[in-house]
This record gives sequence, structure tokens and C-alpha cells, in this order.
Amino acid sequence: MIATGGPGRPGREAVLRSHASITLRDRMTLGLGKIRRFYLAHFRPGYVRESLARRLGQCDRTGACCHLMFTCPLLDQKPQPVRCTIHEIKPKVCRLFPIDERDLRDRDIVSPGTRCGFSFVPRDEFLARGAEAVREAEVRIHTESIDLPRE
Ligand code: SF4
Repeated sequence: MIATGGPGRPGREAVLRSHASITLRDRMTLGLGKIRRFYLAHFRPGYVRESLARRLGQCDRTGACCHLMFTCPLLDQKPQPVRCTIHEIKPKVCRLFPIDERDLRDRDIVSPGTRCGFSFVPRDEFLARGAEAVREAEVRIHTESIDLPRE
């Protein structure tokens, strides 16, 4: 297990599974998740906007999502909290994470004992608020600037 996070940071400390303990099936799930996020982030802006409008919470900077399938070489694990060395220009898939509940499930594979700072209002419940409320929530989403800048 690898501990990330630490004192003076918002959120919780993440305990990560070792890569060796992750099964082949889980690795395949994580790989498919990467492909899914790339597809959604680049080709399904409407879906992403609706999904992010359902999203609650904030990034706790545990860095768990930087360990999906492999540890990103651009993650600096020395400081607490960990930091992305290209935060200001990091890829869309990173900025948008988590896009939906499937991403949270992927993230929980590598850090099952620590919840992500984000959660989602169930889609049925969200849509039941009515078209006007859904549209207003979606208008507030700016996928180009989400999660930027960070102090
Ligand atoms: S580019 Fe940055 S945010 Fe994306 S996985 Fe790597 S360290 Fe994490």
C-alpha cells in the first residue's frame, strides 16, 4: 500500500493498492476506462456537460485518479498533497475527471478505502428536476476551465 495526501491539505489521505495486487480483470476495466474517458471528453461534449452538471463535491487531491492502470509519470508524489507537474496544461481527460459514476468505480479499484471528493446526483433524480433546472445546471458548466486554476 502507498499512502498519499497528508497534513494541511483539504480532504482525506488516500491509501492506494499496490499495482501487483490489481487483478488482470481490474486492469482491463481501468484500460477500458481510459479509452471511454478519452472518447467522452473529446467526442461527447453534450454527455459530459450533462454529467458534470450532476456532479457534487470537489477534488481532494489524493492523486488516486493518477494511478489508473499505471502511475502517471507526470505526477510528483514528493510534496503533500501530491501535485500534477503539468497542472495548468493537463489533458482534458484529467481536468474532467470524474466524468460519471463509472470513473468513480475505476478510481475505487486503486483506492478502495478512500472515497473520492466527488459524487453524482443519480441521473433519474437529476432529470426529474425538470428541463429548465437541468438546462440551468448545464449552463453553469465550463468544461474548458474546470479545475483550473489551483492555488
Ligand atoms: S497528467 Fe497530471 S492530472 Fe493527469 S494523470 Fe498525470 S499527474 Fe494526474
